Amino acid sequence: MALDVGAVTAWMNDFATQISDHENRLTELDRAIGDGDHGTNMARGMRAVSELDGSTFSTAREYLTKVGMTLVSTVGGASGPLYGTFFLCIGELWDDNADASGLSTALRGGLDGIIRRGKASPGDKTLVDALAPALEAYDTHAHRGVGIALQGAAIACAEGRDATIPLIARKGRASYLGERSRGHLDPGAASMTLLIEAASRTLS
Ligand code: ADP
Ligand code: MG
Repeated sequence: MALDVGAVTAWMNDFATQISDHENRLTELDRAIGDGDHGTNMARGMRAVSELDGSTFSTAREYLTKVGMTLVSTVGGASGPLYGTFFLCIGELWDDNADASGLSTALRGGLDGIIRRGKASPGDKTLVDALAPALEAYDTHAHRGVGIALQGAAIACAEGRDATIPLIARKGRASYLGERSRGHLDPGAASMTLLIEAASRTLS
């Protein structure tokens, strides 16, 4: 299976559609424990990404780098630099002809970039709590190929998202609420699940 610029463009366009469809829900989640802008932030960024013309990029790597830069420059708040870093880092490691293990390397590079930038640990009630278990599940299933591995990742991502509900936030705006952040689902974990679900539909 090719992880070429066409496949990656399909991934980004699917994610952009999901973000647009869930914009209000993401904003509502952020209103409960943040400042109520996660949906609008992500929708603004992904609208700009979907305006990029994939056919003008010769490699997926080049396109992913542009996606990262676009998100950094158009999305306000914490999520812009974090998602931007994710795509810049996976772009650096991307190989159009990678097998399941090569795709794991790229995705793990993205998670490492998010952690370097945001300093979140697992359990801090952030998008890391969705992405980290997704990549663990991916690796567990990688020997069965990219498609099955991404399906496993999407399921684990959603479980990680839902498991943020009882957590107390220790990073980002939600951390200002302390104990009062408990009982709410983390908005970034929700958008991250849309990203991994989109990957499982388009990259397999
Ligand atoms: P802001 O908090 O600046 O308004 P957003 O509302 O767009 O930005 O994004 C909030 C989301 O960003 C949170 O739900 C959380 O998942 C994620 N987030 C915030 N800070 C961090 C961090 N330091 N590391 C990882 N993710 C973070
Ligand atoms: Mg916010």
